[in-house]
Amino acid sequence: MHTFEFIRPPDSATAVATAAEAKTAQQGADVRFVAGGTTLLDLMKLNVETPARVLDINRLPFDQIETTPDGGLKIGATVRNSDLAHHETVQRDYAVLSQAILAGASAQLRNMATTAGNLLQRTRCVYFRDTAMPCNKREPGTGCPAITGFNRTLAVLGASEQCIATNPSDMCVALAALEATIHIQGSNGTRAIPIGDFHLLPGTTPDRETVLEPGDLITHVTLLPPVAESKQFYLKLRDRASYEFALASAAVVINVDGGNVTRARIALGGVGTKPWRSPEAEAALVGQEANAANFRNAAEAALRDAKPQSENAFKIELAKRCLTHALQVATA
Ligand SMILES: Cc1cc2nc3c(=O)[nH]c(=O)nc-3n(C[C@H](O)[C@H](O)[C@H](O)COP(=O)(O)OP(=O)(O)OC[C@H]3O[C@@H](n4cnc5c(N)ncnc54)[C@H](O)[C@@H]3O)c2cc1C
Ligand code: SF4
Repeated sequence: MHTFEFIRPPDSATAVATAAEAKTAQQGADVRFVAGGTTLLDLMKLNVETPARVLDINRLPFDQIETTPDGGLKIGATVRNSDLAHHETVQRDYAVLSQAILAGASAQLRNMATTAGNLLQRTRCVYFRDTAMPCNKREPGTGCPAITGFNRTLAVLGASEQCIATNPSDMCVALAALEATIHIQGSNGTRAIPIGDFHLLPGTTPDRETVLEPGDLITHVTLLPPVAESKQFYLKLRDRASYEFALASAAVVINVDGGNVTRARIALGGVGTKPWRSPEAEAALVGQEANAANFRNAAEAALRDAKPQSENAFKIELAKRCLTHALQVATA
């Protein structure tokens, strides 16, 4: 690993001011925050990330889970994934979030991983993690060997000719279905960004993965007040039962009244270049009877624009079955 300066900023203002000196907050940042370190240190060991300064934010006061005045939930940026998944309110009112987190990584990793770090975890594309290979995301303009190479686990939704990498997070899929908001403290003050606008599609700039600018520090995430009577479920399909990323996953938050769907929030994981909310599936469900045929119709709608790569066409049918089954379990 290269050498770097390790800094413990005394407060968030100092952390932001120091990080604002970076050239970018995206790939190649020369100043990085570190929380659990389970993404950043991995990538530093591989020389994919080579920050000159690493700012430890673990002592900043962002480790609480609190109810908001409107009855929603405020989740601090450094709340550990395990604490969030096992929190009583989360398990009761936002079960899909608890289930998604517990479907990810391992108990040891979840004890280290944080809310903000999970939002910013990087793709597992093998070429991105190997500095001997070209990769547009790591080094813009060098090419995308995945398009003609190993792409079995990569995206079928949201890809571009520059990059087809999957966003690997489970937590973010649940946050998309829960319509979470990301709160940021930056050089010019604070701002709040809906999760659907936080991650970017690769387009012609796959090195740019989020809207973050130099200095931007995620302070917390908020959830809306729980939706009364909603049924929630997260289903993750993968090559082995634990310690593996999703080939396809589905987060479902659905209300059924008198046998008909009255509200649906649907997001997919493992298949998109960002956590994939599906307004198409939601529109296909609302007003319809909650039955297997209509669930399958919604899944068809969700994957209508999917484009397979050479090795991953199977993911399209897998994702459809994943969503159909998740809807069946949620509403059973
Ligand atoms: C072996 C392995 C298996 C895994 N399996 C899964 C899985 O199945 N599902 C899944 O979803 N995830 C999985 N993960 C990923 C894991 O969830 C992430 O590594 C973790 O959530 C990252 O959180 P962290 O706090 O450790 O982040 P860090 O490594 O500390 O940081 C990650 C990035 O976020 C930035 N950052 C951190 N906090 C802030 C902040 N407050 N503001 C701005 N920037 C910030 C850092 O600068 C860095 O760029 C796996 C990881 C490993 C190593
Ligand atoms: S898919 Fe994206 S991350 Fe993977 S090699 Fe291509 S450009 Fe790099």
